[in-house]
Amino acid sequence: MESRYLETMRSGVLEKRIADARELLRPCRLCPRQCGVDRLADERGYCRTGLQAEVASYGPHFGEESVLVGSHGSGTIFFCGCNLLCTFCQNYDISRVTDPDCRPVDDRQLAAIMVELQEAGCHNINFVTPTHVVPQILAALPHAIRAGLRVPLVYNCGGYERLESLRLLEGIVDIYMPDAKFWERESGRRYAKAPDYPGVMRAALAETQRQVGDLRMNEKGLAERGLLVRHLLMPGGLAEAAAIFRFLAEEISPGCYVNIMDQYRPCGEAAPPGDGGTISRAMLDEAIRAAKKAGLSRFDERDMASLIRRLMSR
Ligand code: SF4
Repeated sequence: MESRYLETMRSGVLEKRIADARELLRPCRLCPRQCGVDRLADERGYCRTGLQAEVASYGPHFGEESVLVGSHGSGTIFFCGCNLLCTFCQNYDISRVTDPDCRPVDDRQLAAIMVELQEAGCHNINFVTPTHVVPQILAALPHAIRAGLRVPLVYNCGGYERLESLRLLEGIVDIYMPDAKFWERESGRRYAKAPDYPGVMRAALAETQRQVGDLRMNEKGLAERGLLVRHLLMPGGLAEAAAIFRFLAEEISPGCYVNIMDQYRPCGEAAPPGDGGTISRAMLDEAIRAAKKAGLSRFDERDMASLIRRLMSR
């Protein structure tokens, strides 16, 4: 299956998208924060990123979902800055742009990174935390395509997206991989200063599903196109997880591919009292049961296969 951006480039639509996306940078209304800063003048808003994208690291990554990793890894590009800045972020210094490895990249440099990852054998280009740098990614793409880029693009985001920005990515992103973090407004406020997160996330997931549909794999089991949703289990968050699974099954698709993640640990800013600790095996089991009860059946198999088999046999 040909990556979607190749036809979008050939048709001339990509050039228009690049111009439209750049318009959203002054005043910046790229994401739901709508800070209104002048990013073209290098002003920085909540996401702490100005005119140029900044990259902390890139390379083949083998810790991503099984359908992205394959034999040669997912070609991750870790962008500095973030429009959520969760209190418990596991990449705290990168999201706050305090990591000394954060380096600005221009369009050609970003394109060269994409091509280098493809030449290293990576099965896809995985943009990690891309929401605040959509215009910069789009502007880099023609350079990368002219240099031979052809692997699928993965938009690996926090789920706090503006529909206007997502629509600019239609026909360009092959695989959307948003988080579905919080179901309750209070959780969005408490962890990410975003009480509107639940409603924004629901609309964003519906838009991405409309664009790419359920996740499809090739004959090697590698993802080619579609939606893959991540949910990070939170201490005490089982009820929110169950509500998210019901939403996914009933309003996105019962065929929605989901990665239920149990690696929460309170990093970054000190977690509020009661948020510490990790996710127990019992809670993960309970979450899987809730997801299955909601009607979901496609789970990432990296850590889940044995668990599901065990639960199915009960
Ligand atoms: S992308 Fe950054 S500057 Fe723009 S609205 Fe979002 S948080 Fe604010």
